[in-house]
Amino acid sequence: MEIKNWSLAEIVEVYNTPLLELVYRAASVHRQHHDPNTVQISTLLSIKTGGCPEDCAYCPQAARYHTDIETNDLMTEDQVRKAAINAQAGGSSRLCMGAAWRNVKNDDEFEQVLRLVKTVNELDMEVCCTLGMLTESQAQRLAEAGLYAYNHNLDSSEEFYKEIISTRGYEDRLQTLENARKAKLTLCSGGIIGMGESVEDRCKMLKTLASLRPQPESVPINALVAVEGTPLEDQETVPIWDMIRMVATTRIVIPTTTVRLSAGRTSMSAEGQALCFMAGASSIFAGNKLLTTPNPDVHEDMELFNLLGLKPQAAFAKGEKPTAKKVELSEVEKAERIKWSRPKHKIDTNEEYKSLAKEKRSEVKL
Ligand code: SF4
Repeated sequence: MEIKNWSLAEIVEVYNTPLLELVYRAASVHRQHHDPNTVQISTLLSIKTGGCPEDCAYCPQAARYHTDIETNDLMTEDQVRKAAINAQAGGSSRLCMGAAWRNVKNDDEFEQVLRLVKTVNELDMEVCCTLGMLTESQAQRLAEAGLYAYNHNLDSSEEFYKEIISTRGYEDRLQTLENARKAKLTLCSGGIIGMGESVEDRCKMLKTLASLRPQPESVPINALVAVEGTPLEDQETVPIWDMIRMVATTRIVIPTTTVRLSAGRTSMSAEGQALCFMAGASSIFAGNKLLTTPNPDVHEDMELFNLLGLKPQAAFAKGEKPTAKKVELSEVEKAERIKWSRPKHKIDTNEEYKSLAKEKRSEVKL
Protein backbone atom coordinates (compact mmCIF):
# COMPACT_ATOMS: atom_id res chain seq x y z
CA MET A 1 0.00 0.00 0.00
CA GLU A 2 1.30 3.44 -0.90
CA ILE A 3 1.71 5.62 2.17
CA LYS A 4 0.53 9.20 1.77
CA ASN A 5 2.76 12.05 2.90
CA TRP A 6 0.35 14.32 4.75
CA SER A 7 0.89 18.06 5.06
CA LEU A 8 -0.13 19.77 8.31
CA ALA A 9 -2.81 21.77 6.47
CA GLU A 10 -4.36 18.56 5.12
CA ILE A 11 -4.46 16.95 8.57
CA VAL A 12 -6.02 20.07 10.12
CA GLU A 13 -8.61 20.05 7.33
CA VAL A 14 -9.45 16.41 8.11
CA TYR A 15 -9.72 17.20 11.84
CA ASN A 16 -12.12 20.08 11.15
CA THR A 17 -14.40 18.16 8.78
CA PRO A 18 -18.07 18.30 9.90
CA LEU A 19 -18.26 15.65 12.61
CA LEU A 20 -20.64 13.11 11.07
CA GLU A 21 -18.88 13.36 7.72
CA LEU A 22 -15.55 12.83 9.52
CA VAL A 23 -16.84 9.73 11.34
CA TYR A 24 -18.27 8.32 8.10
CA ARG A 25 -14.98 8.86 6.28
CA ALA A 26 -12.93 7.35 9.11
CA ALA A 27 -15.30 4.37 9.39
CA SER A 28 -14.88 3.74 5.65
CA VAL A 29 -11.06 3.80 5.94
CA HIS A 30 -11.31 1.55 9.01
CA ARG A 31 -13.27 -1.07 7.09
CA GLN A 32 -10.67 -1.17 4.31
CA HIS A 33 -7.89 -2.16 6.69
CA HIS A 34 -9.42 -3.73 9.80
CA ASP A 35 -12.21 -6.01 10.93
CA PRO A 36 -14.68 -3.46 12.39
CA ASN A 37 -16.11 -6.05 14.80
CA THR A 38 -12.80 -6.87 16.47
CA VAL A 39 -11.09 -4.85 19.17
CA GLN A 40 -7.66 -5.60 20.55
CA ILE A 41 -7.57 -5.51 24.35
CA SER A 42 -4.41 -4.62 26.23
CA THR A 43 -3.80 -4.54 29.93
CA LEU A 44 -1.43 -1.90 31.24
CA LEU A 45 0.40 -3.05 34.36
CA SER A 46 2.53 -0.73 36.45
CA ILE A 47 5.49 -2.95 37.35
CA LYS A 48 7.29 -0.13 39.18
CA THR A 49 5.20 2.78 40.37
CA GLY A 50 6.16 6.35 41.33
CA GLY A 51 9.34 8.14 42.26
CA CYS A 52 10.15 9.19 38.69
CA PRO A 53 12.75 11.98 38.35
CA GLU A 54 11.06 13.45 35.23
CA ASP A 55 8.65 16.41 35.29
CA CYS A 56 5.85 15.41 32.87
CA ALA A 57 3.13 17.88 33.91
CA TYR A 58 0.32 15.32 33.57
CA CYS A 59 1.93 12.52 35.53
CA PRO A 60 1.18 11.64 39.16
CA GLN A 61 4.25 9.38 39.22
CA ALA A 62 6.71 12.29 39.02
CA ALA A 63 8.47 12.41 42.40
CA ARG A 64 8.39 16.21 42.48
CA TYR A 65 4.57 16.45 42.55
CA HIS A 66 2.52 15.81 45.66
CA THR A 67 0.03 13.17 44.64
CA ASP A 68 -1.33 10.34 46.73
CA ILE A 69 -0.26 7.40 44.59
CA GLU A 70 1.19 4.35 46.27
CA THR A 71 4.72 3.73 45.11
CA ASN A 72 6.01 0.19 44.66
CA ASP A 73 9.29 -1.51 43.80
CA LEU A 74 9.76 -3.57 40.67
CA MET A 75 7.36 -6.52 40.58
CA THR A 76 8.47 -10.13 40.78
CA GLU A 77 7.96 -12.76 38.09
CA ASP A 78 5.26 -14.40 40.17
CA GLN A 79 3.29 -11.15 40.55
CA VAL A 80 3.53 -10.42 36.83
CA ARG A 81 2.60 -13.98 35.84
CA LYS A 82 -0.55 -13.81 37.97
CA ALA A 83 -1.48 -10.40 36.57
CA ALA A 84 -0.88 -11.63 33.01
CA ILE A 85 -3.06 -14.72 33.48
CA ASN A 86 -5.79 -12.61 34.99
CA ALA A 87 -5.56 -10.14 32.09
CA GLN A 88 -5.59 -12.96 29.55
CA ALA A 89 -8.68 -14.51 31.12
CA GLY A 90 -10.37 -11.10 30.86
CA GLY A 91 -9.78 -11.02 27.10
CA SER A 92 -6.46 -9.17 26.89
CA SER A 93 -4.10 -10.37 24.20
CA ARG A 94 -1.37 -7.92 25.18
CA LEU A 95 0.25 -7.01 28.50
CA CYS A 96 2.00 -3.66 28.58
CA MET A 97 4.40 -3.32 31.51
CA GLY A 98 5.21 0.22 32.61
CA ALA A 99 8.02 1.38 34.90
CA ALA A 100 8.30 4.97 36.13
CA TRP A 101 11.85 5.49 34.91
CA ARG A 102 13.53 8.30 32.99
CA ASN A 103 15.50 5.70 31.06
CA VAL A 104 16.54 2.08 31.19
CA LYS A 105 19.80 1.39 33.03
CA ASN A 106 22.01 -1.63 32.53
CA ASP A 107 21.49 -2.90 36.06
CA ASP A 108 19.81 -5.70 38.02
CA GLU A 109 16.39 -4.15 37.53
CA PHE A 110 16.78 -4.33 33.75
CA GLU A 111 17.77 -8.00 34.09
CA GLN A 112 14.58 -8.47 36.10
CA VAL A 113 12.51 -6.76 33.39
CA LEU A 114 14.01 -9.15 30.81
CA ARG A 115 12.83 -12.07 32.95
CA LEU A 116 9.37 -10.49 33.21
CA VAL A 117 9.21 -10.15 29.42
CA LYS A 118 10.11 -13.83 28.99
CA THR A 119 7.52 -14.83 31.56
CA VAL A 120 4.70 -13.07 29.71
CA ASN A 121 5.91 -14.15 26.27
CA GLU A 122 5.69 -17.77 27.39
CA LEU A 123 2.00 -17.26 28.20
CA ASP A 124 1.41 -16.53 24.48
CA MET A 125 0.57 -12.90 25.09
CA GLU A 126 1.95 -9.96 23.14
CA VAL A 127 4.39 -8.25 25.50
CA CYS A 128 4.87 -4.50 25.42
CA CYS A 129 7.04 -2.39 27.69
CA THR A 130 7.11 1.31 28.48
CA LEU A 131 10.28 2.00 30.44
CA GLY A 132 11.39 5.44 29.29
CA MET A 133 14.33 6.09 27.02
CA LEU A 134 16.38 3.15 25.87
CA THR A 135 19.46 2.49 23.77
CA GLU A 136 19.62 0.31 20.70
CA SER A 137 21.45 -2.48 22.56
CA GLN A 138 18.87 -2.43 25.37
CA ALA A 139 16.11 -2.61 22.76
CA GLN A 140 17.91 -5.57 21.22
CA ARG A 141 18.06 -7.38 24.57
CA LEU A 142 14.34 -6.77 25.12
CA ALA A 143 13.60 -8.15 21.66
CA GLU A 144 15.68 -11.25 22.43
CA ALA A 145 13.71 -11.74 25.64
CA GLY A 146 10.50 -11.90 23.57
CA LEU A 147 9.28 -8.28 23.61
CA TYR A 148 6.71 -7.62 20.89
CA ALA A 149 6.22 -3.86 21.16
CA TYR A 150 7.76 -0.81 22.78
CA ASN A 151 5.59 2.09 23.90
CA HIS A 152 7.06 5.58 23.90
CA ASN A 153 4.54 8.38 23.42
CA LEU A 154 5.30 11.65 21.68
CA ASP A 155 2.55 13.16 23.87
CA SER A 156 1.97 16.26 21.68
CA SER A 157 3.61 18.46 19.06
CA GLU A 158 7.32 19.28 19.36
CA GLU A 159 6.43 22.89 20.23
CA PHE A 160 3.90 22.05 22.95
CA TYR A 161 6.10 19.29 24.37
CA LYS A 162 8.36 21.99 25.88
CA GLU A 163 5.36 23.35 27.80
CA ILE A 164 4.69 20.09 29.60
CA ILE A 165 8.14 18.48 30.01
CA SER A 166 11.49 20.17 30.57
CA THR A 167 13.65 17.23 31.65
CA ARG A 168 14.04 15.77 28.15
CA GLY A 169 13.45 16.81 24.57
CA TYR A 170 11.36 15.68 21.62
CA GLU A 171 14.52 14.50 19.85
CA ASP A 172 15.14 12.08 22.75
CA ARG A 173 11.70 10.59 22.18
CA LEU A 174 12.28 10.15 18.47
CA GLN A 175 15.70 8.62 19.11
CA THR A 176 14.22 5.98 21.43
CA LEU A 177 11.58 5.14 18.82
CA GLU A 178 14.36 4.72 16.28
CA ASN A 179 16.37 2.52 18.67
CA ALA A 180 13.35 0.29 19.27
CA ARG A 181 12.71 0.06 15.55
CA LYS A 182 16.33 -0.94 14.85
CA ALA A 183 15.76 -3.91 17.17
CA LYS A 184 12.73 -4.80 15.00
CA LEU A 185 10.26 -4.12 17.79
CA THR A 186 6.83 -2.91 16.79
CA LEU A 187 6.09 0.64 17.94
CA CYS A 188 3.29 1.99 20.07
CA SER A 189 3.40 5.78 20.15
CA GLY A 190 0.68 8.37 20.53
CA GLY A 191 -0.32 11.25 22.73
CA ILE A 192 -2.59 12.97 25.18
CA ILE A 193 -5.24 15.55 24.38
CA GLY A 194 -6.70 18.04 26.85
CA MET A 195 -3.42 19.42 28.25
CA GLY A 196 -4.06 22.92 26.86
CA GLU A 197 -2.65 22.23 23.40
CA SER A 198 -4.19 23.60 20.20
CA VAL A 199 -5.80 21.62 17.38
CA GLU A 200 -2.66 22.40 15.39
CA ASP A 201 -0.51 20.75 18.10
CA ARG A 202 -2.66 17.61 17.94
CA CYS A 203 -2.37 17.52 14.16
CA LYS A 204 1.39 18.20 14.23
CA MET A 205 1.87 15.19 16.48
CA LEU A 206 -0.10 13.05 14.03
CA LYS A 207 2.01 14.40 11.16
CA THR A 208 5.21 13.37 12.99
CA LEU A 209 3.84 9.89 13.71
CA ALA A 210 2.55 9.47 10.16
CA SER A 211 5.93 10.47 8.72
CA LEU A 212 7.77 7.63 10.49
CA ARG A 213 8.73 4.76 8.20
CA PRO A 214 7.44 2.24 8.99
CA GLN A 215 4.55 3.97 10.69
CA PRO A 216 3.81 2.95 14.30
CA GLU A 217 1.75 -0.22 14.52
CA SER A 218 -0.19 1.27 17.42
CA VAL A 219 -1.21 4.85 18.26
CA PRO A 220 -2.73 5.37 21.71
CA ILE A 221 -4.98 8.41 22.04
CA ASN A 222 -5.34 9.47 25.66
CA ALA A 223 -7.70 12.04 27.15
CA LEU A 224 -5.96 13.78 30.03
CA VAL A 225 -6.97 12.52 33.45
CA ALA A 226 -6.28 15.63 35.55
CA VAL A 227 -4.77 14.33 38.78
CA GLU A 228 -4.72 16.48 41.93
CA GLY A 229 -1.21 17.55 42.81
CA THR A 230 0.05 17.68 39.21
CA PRO A 231 0.51 20.99 37.35
CA LEU A 232 -2.42 20.04 35.07
CA GLU A 233 -4.82 19.32 37.93
CA ASP A 234 -7.21 22.12 36.90
CA GLN A 235 -7.53 21.17 33.24
CA GLU A 236 -11.11 20.58 32.18
CA THR A 237 -12.27 17.17 31.01
CA VAL A 238 -11.76 16.73 27.28
CA PRO A 239 -15.07 16.96 25.39
CA ILE A 240 -15.98 13.59 23.88
CA TRP A 241 -16.32 15.30 20.50
CA ASP A 242 -12.61 16.17 20.57
CA MET A 243 -11.78 12.57 21.34
CA ILE A 244 -13.93 11.34 18.44
CA ARG A 245 -12.30 13.86 16.10
CA MET A 246 -8.81 12.84 17.22
CA VAL A 247 -9.54 9.11 16.84
CA ALA A 248 -11.10 9.63 13.41
CA THR A 249 -8.25 11.84 12.19
CA THR A 250 -5.67 9.30 13.39
CA ARG A 251 -7.54 6.53 11.59
CA ILE A 252 -7.57 8.49 8.31
CA VAL A 253 -3.97 9.71 8.52
CA ILE A 254 -2.45 6.36 9.60
CA PRO A 255 -4.96 3.85 8.13
CA THR A 256 -3.25 0.59 9.07
CA THR A 257 -2.35 1.37 12.67
CA THR A 258 -4.19 0.12 15.72
CA VAL A 259 -5.81 3.23 17.19
CA ARG A 260 -5.90 2.68 20.92
CA LEU A 261 -8.61 4.33 23.02
CA SER A 262 -6.55 4.84 26.16
CA ALA A 263 -6.75 6.99 29.29
CA GLY A 264 -9.87 8.97 30.10
CA ARG A 265 -12.50 6.34 29.28
CA THR A 266 -14.10 6.64 32.73
CA SER A 267 -15.34 10.09 31.70
CA MET A 268 -16.79 8.78 28.45
CA SER A 269 -20.30 7.43 28.05
CA ALA A 270 -20.96 4.09 26.36
CA GLU A 271 -22.37 6.06 23.41
CA GLY A 272 -19.22 8.20 23.21
CA GLN A 273 -16.99 5.15 23.19
CA ALA A 274 -19.22 3.50 20.57
CA LEU A 275 -18.70 6.52 18.31
CA CYS A 276 -14.93 6.22 18.87
CA PHE A 277 -15.08 2.56 17.73
CA MET A 278 -17.16 3.66 14.75
CA ALA A 279 -14.52 6.32 14.00
CA GLY A 280 -11.74 3.74 13.89
CA ALA A 281 -10.62 2.96 17.43
CA SER A 282 -9.55 -0.67 17.31
CA SER A 283 -8.11 -1.21 20.76
CA ILE A 284 -8.70 -0.37 24.40
CA PHE A 285 -6.79 -0.70 27.62
CA ALA A 286 -8.59 -2.97 30.06
CA GLY A 287 -8.25 -3.30 33.81
CA ASN A 288 -9.38 -1.20 36.75
CA LYS A 289 -6.32 1.03 36.58
CA LEU A 290 -4.21 2.55 33.81
CA LEU A 291 -0.88 2.67 35.63
CA THR A 292 -2.24 4.90 38.41
CA THR A 293 -5.40 6.48 36.98
CA PRO A 294 -8.89 4.90 37.02
CA ASN A 295 -10.24 2.83 34.12
CA PRO A 296 -13.62 1.14 33.53
CA ASP A 297 -14.21 -2.25 35.16
CA VAL A 298 -13.55 -5.24 32.88
CA HIS A 299 -17.20 -6.33 33.25
CA GLU A 300 -18.43 -2.95 32.02
CA ASP A 301 -16.14 -3.29 29.01
CA MET A 302 -17.41 -6.78 28.23
CA GLU A 303 -21.03 -5.60 28.52
CA LEU A 304 -20.26 -2.79 26.08
CA PHE A 305 -18.54 -5.25 23.73
CA ASN A 306 -21.57 -7.57 23.88
CA LEU A 307 -23.92 -4.67 23.23
CA LEU A 308 -21.93 -3.49 20.22
CA GLY A 309 -21.18 -6.99 18.91
CA LEU A 310 -17.43 -6.53 19.31
CA LYS A 311 -15.04 -9.44 19.85
CA PRO A 312 -11.60 -9.41 21.46
CA GLN A 313 -8.76 -9.86 18.98
CA ALA A 314 -6.50 -12.90 19.41
CA ALA A 315 -2.83 -12.42 20.26
CA PHE A 316 -0.42 -12.08 17.32
CA ALA A 317 -3.28 -11.48 14.85
CA LYS A 318 -1.09 -8.85 13.14
CA GLY A 319 2.43 -10.17 13.62
CA GLU A 320 4.46 -13.20 14.56
CA LYS A 321 5.15 -14.17 18.14
CA PRO A 322 8.78 -13.30 18.95
CA THR A 323 10.88 -16.27 19.97
CA ALA A 324 12.58 -15.63 23.28
CA LYS A 325 16.11 -16.93 23.64
CA LYS A 326 15.93 -20.19 25.52
CA VAL A 327 16.62 -20.23 29.26
CA GLU A 328 16.93 -23.28 31.47
CA LEU A 329 14.23 -23.40 34.14
CA SER A 330 14.78 -24.61 37.68
CA GLU A 331 12.51 -27.39 38.99
CA VAL A 332 10.66 -24.80 41.11
CA GLU A 333 10.06 -22.59 38.08
CA LYS A 334 8.86 -25.58 36.02
CA ALA A 335 6.33 -26.44 38.74
CA GLU A 336 5.19 -22.81 38.86
CA ARG A 337 4.76 -22.73 35.09
CA ILE A 338 2.48 -25.76 35.18
CA LYS A 339 0.47 -24.24 38.01
CA TRP A 340 -0.09 -21.01 36.10
CA SER A 341 -0.29 -22.44 32.59
CA ARG A 342 -2.77 -20.89 30.20
CA PRO A 343 -6.34 -22.27 30.08
CA LYS A 344 -6.26 -25.06 27.50
CA HIS A 345 -9.71 -24.69 26.00
CA LYS A 346 -10.35 -22.28 23.19
CA ILE A 347 -11.88 -18.97 24.21
CA ASP A 348 -14.04 -17.58 21.49
CA THR A 349 -16.98 -15.76 22.96
CA ASN A 350 -17.29 -12.78 25.21
CA GLU A 351 -19.42 -14.82 27.63
CA GLU A 352 -16.53 -17.22 28.12
CA TYR A 353 -14.15 -14.33 28.70
CA LYS A 354 -16.52 -12.93 31.30
CA SER A 355 -16.85 -16.13 33.29
CA LEU A 356 -13.13 -16.95 32.99
CA ALA A 357 -12.20 -13.47 34.14
CA LYS A 358 -14.49 -13.84 37.15
CA GLU A 359 -13.12 -17.28 37.96
CA LYS A 360 -9.52 -16.10 37.65
CA ARG A 361 -10.09 -12.96 39.66
CA SER A 362 -11.33 -15.02 42.61
CA GLU A 363 -8.28 -17.30 42.25
CA VAL A 364 -5.62 -14.73 41.66
CA LYS A 365 -5.08 -12.15 44.37
CA LEU A 366 -2.18 -9.81 43.79
S1 SF4 B 1 5.19 10.03 32.31
FE1 SF4 B 1 6.82 8.53 32.63
S2 SF4 B 1 8.71 9.72 32.45
FE2 SF4 B 1 7.06 11.21 32.79
S3 SF4 B 1 7.01 11.52 35.03
FE3 SF4 B 1 5.53 9.91 34.54
S4 SF4 B 1 6.65 8.00 34.82
FE4 SF4 B 1 8.17 9.64 34.63
